[in-house]
Amino acid sequence: MKVAVYPGTFDPITNGHLDIIRRAVSIFDRVVVGVAADNYKETLFSLEERVDLVRTVTRDIAGVTVKSFSGLLVDFARREEAVAIVRGLRAVSDFEYEFQMSIMNKKLASDLETVFLMTTTEYSFLSSSVIRQVASLGGCIHGLVPPEVERALLQRHDFF
Ligand code: ADP
Repeated sequence: MKVAVYPGTFDPITNGHLDIIRRAVSIFDRVVVGVAADNYKETLFSLEERVDLVRTVTRDIAGVTVKSFSGLLVDFARREEAVAIVRGLRAVSDFEYEFQMSIMNKKLASDLETVFLMTTTEYSFLSSSVIRQVASLGGCIHGLVPPEVERALLQRHDFF
């Protein structure tokens, strides 16, 4: 049984994330989506809200479980008995940070591989921060996030 963890902030989950999750479960037997509790970003949605949204929109994808985690990613991956960390890559701008993190994680846990999945063209411009920004200004985000996320954003920005 090959398990992978897919960590992120998911503030909120987008169709770009979902695409990576769907492709990851076609490679691994099980994918544990790890919603990061503590990072250095101020989030729009609370940890509970982010976990709930990821759970809701992945409920029909077999082989996916959703958990929150805090502390080191490699410790979370070990607890889940994962053989790999999955990350998505968009533009060149993602590369430097991801490269650095994967080398560091390899130092911390040499038996753990980081697997990068390239974004799908239609989502290559998509990020949670762009979604938050556009939604807060009243722009249309239809088709870029699952309907449940669209609703959550509409409620958050009640001037819509
Ligand atoms: P983090 O704060 O850890 O970067 P994110 O929730 O922003 O968490 O992203 C989680 C992972 O998903 C990262 O590897 C990121 O590069 C990837 N990702 C985000 N958006 C997309 C997208 N549109 N296509 C492919 N991968 C993506």
